Amino acid sequence: MVRVKDITALMERWAPRDLAFEKDNVGLQVGSPEARVRRVLVGLDPTEALVREASRRRSDLIITHHPLLFTPLRNLNTSTAQGRLLAALIRSGRTLYSAHTNLDFAPGGTSFALGELLGLREMRFLVQQSRTYRKVVTFVPADAADTVAGAMATAGGGTIGNYDTCSFRTRGTGTFRGNARSSPRVGKRGRTEHVEEIRLEMLVDQRNLPAVLGAMRQTHPYEEVAYDVYPLENIHPGTGMGAIGVLRTPLSSAVFLRRVRTALHAGSLRYTHGRPARIRTVAVCGGAGRGLLQEAIASGADAFVTADVHYHDYQDAAGHIVLIDAGHYETEIPIVNAIVRYLRNALAQSRMRADVVPATTRTSTMMSL
Ligand SMILES: [Zn+2]
Repeated sequence: MVRVKDITALMERWAPRDLAFEKDNVGLQVGSPEARVRRVLVGLDPTEALVREASRRRSDLIITHHPLLFTPLRNLNTSTAQGRLLAALIRSGRTLYSAHTNLDFAPGGTSFALGELLGLREMRFLVQQSRTYRKVVTFVPADAADTVAGAMATAGGGTIGNYDTCSFRTRGTGTFRGNARSSPRVGKRGRTEHVEEIRLEMLVDQRNLPAVLGAMRQTHPYEEVAYDVYPLENIHPGTGMGAIGVLRTPLSSAVFLRRVRTALHAGSLRYTHGRPARIRTVAVCGGAGRGLLQEAIASGADAFVTADVHYHDYQDAAGHIVLIDAGHYETEIPIVNAIVRYLRNALAQSRMRADVVPATTRTSTMMSL
């Protein structure tokens, strides 16, 4: 029997939850990880129409790209769309799970699905995620090293891929002299002391830094804790933003624009002209990707396909890159079929049996003439 937790584990092998933006709310939204799953319905937005489709098609699990819950709920008010949706999900016993920015930042995620549909090849991340790590070093007496390292690891330090509690330790000599107001744990105030210490090093994800430093200070036996925080340039290999690739044959901008409109079923496109060259290298970012415009220009791409572009962005882009806003829904909807393909494949490989189907409900309410 396949359960919700089996499917979500497969999803998180592709798009681990900790890849998501800190303020995002990815993962289980409503329901039980233990619930049985016979059919999974995959859609872009959690809407009432999508939940109706799930009940029509007898889907026990709904996977959406956009999450339903963002801010803490203060009540479940069924006169609001969100409240009705939650009530309908709970009443029908269906489970809702969302993979949002973790899927945007995963290899083969939202932007790659978009690029593939546009015929891009040799795709890679447009921007690699770097500088998200810090190295924390502290100096502790040998008998306290395990306690301090353990607390730092519990607070989120020392995780590398599938390993946790990773640290490095070297022995050395620390020196110090406490002034008249000090109360040293080792030695006497006013006298220079030499103490055997461990230099304890740990890799820390930037977002866990305050918690890790707090845990270190709390468990460190010294009155004054000596520590260093180093910025790192490590590239996080499994995550990035946007994607860039090349077309099999260069196209004129007019032909490329038509390809974008047709491939994405976009009613209309907004764009600006770039350099007077044919389009060969293309940067993409599914959904709101205007923050990557400068990176797209710097990458040498001839065109940048994304959504939610502002008026002044076109002025920044003009003459540099063909900047195309093809719509938020239109640039993200390719991820739905990518999820379906991935899950069908992953379920078959794990010898689990459950149907996975793309939603036929259009969950965008935006129309164009
Ligand atoms: Zn989106």
